[in-house]
Amino acid sequence: MFKKILDKSVKIYVFILYIVYILVYIISPVNGHSGCDETILRRSIMAVFYRKLPRFEYLIPKTLEEALTVLKNQKESAKVFAGGTDLIPQMKRREIPVPRCVIDLKGISKLDAISFDEDSGLKIGSLVTINALAESPVIRQHFPSLFQAASSIGSPQVRNRGTFAGNICTAVPSADSAPALLTLEATITVKGLNGERVVPIDQFFTGPRMTVLKPDEILVEISVPTPARSSRGVYLKLSPRHSMDLAIVGVAVNGVSEKGICKDVKIALGAVAPTPIRAPMAEEMLKGQRITPELIDEAARNAITQCSPIDDHRASQEYRCDMIYAMTRRALNQVFAQ
Ligand SMILES: Cc1cc2nc3c(=O)[nH]c(=O)nc-3n(C[C@H](O)[C@H](O)[C@H](O)COP(=O)(O)OP(=O)(O)OC[C@H]3O[C@@H](n4cnc5c(N)ncnc54)[C@H](O)[C@@H]3O)c2cc1C
Repeated sequence: MFKKILDKSVKIYVFILYIVYILVYIISPVNGHSGCDETILRRSIMAVFYRKLPRFEYLIPKTLEEALTVLKNQKESAKVFAGGTDLIPQMKRREIPVPRCVIDLKGISKLDAISFDEDSGLKIGSLVTINALAESPVIRQHFPSLFQAASSIGSPQVRNRGTFAGNICTAVPSADSAPALLTLEATITVKGLNGERVVPIDQFFTGPRMTVLKPDEILVEISVPTPARSSRGVYLKLSPRHSMDLAIVGVAVNGVSEKGICKDVKIALGAVAPTPIRAPMAEEMLKGQRITPELIDEAARNAITQCSPIDDHRASQEYRCDMIYAMTRRALNQVFAQ
């Protein structure tokens, strides 16, 4: 008797879930509006099994000019596609208005180069994958914080497809590439049909998932000046698992010291504010001063005051504040260790 009632209620529960799922799917936007050329019935059946990609036109231009022309003509209904590791999940989950056309940059040559010389610094093309950066001997030798940031992103699969530039363009507060690039004072070159502009990385992010990029512009290159010979850099990421998880807190430090005195220091933090940020007050406390454990402790505590972390399923605000302090102190100790 009891088993019968239980069976029946499970069936009713599953049926209600099924109806709710179908309703949510039907009213969710497809191609930027509800309704499309597929039958509602077919879509509803598909929805039970998976969230399939909506329809869009896929273009693979051969030149930057071609890509920029399409972007200009399509206005906001086109999206640039690099590795797709962020864009495709967003489209599947209907987190963004579905673009009418997706422009794959991978048909354009010369965007996947990494180059470095002491005078002009490091240049990272917009199609350089995260893995290419993590495996580059130049990056490992001259830009350890970038190496650590790249190595900490996602999984081998994500790093093989995802680009470093794409990571910046997503502008999520936890983007691992951002803190290291902030401490290295990188600049971002963006192109539109009307010309090119260079944006310092600390002016690139304007809010969560928002940047200064206009809808008809493409990021073509990230430039990083050669760090001072005696500088040291580090990126530390706190995440629940060693890989696959986004940062709860990310801290990058780049510093120069001489005979125990801090000559220069840059501190940047990720996942603790609406955008990745620098901690200028903490930097000022250290500059020109003799490095002591007490001073490092004070600066690390000060870094908390420049953050506005959120409370979410990944970590509480209080825990994030404690970790900003702990991780900043650890990063400063590593950079200024004798
Ligand atoms: C399982 C998984 C784990 C992940 N783990 C991490 C992690 O640990 N840390 C982390 O920071 N991220 C993580 N990510 C997020 C993602 O992989 C990265 O942000 C990646 O670097 C995005 O690069 P992409 O080339 O795939 O960008 P895409 O998905 O192609 O594009 C992302 C966005 O940037 C725009 N865009 C890309 N390139 C350009 C360009 N050149 N010019 C203009 N706009 C452009 C696109 O239009 C889109 O809006 C993870 C993702 C997945 C799926």
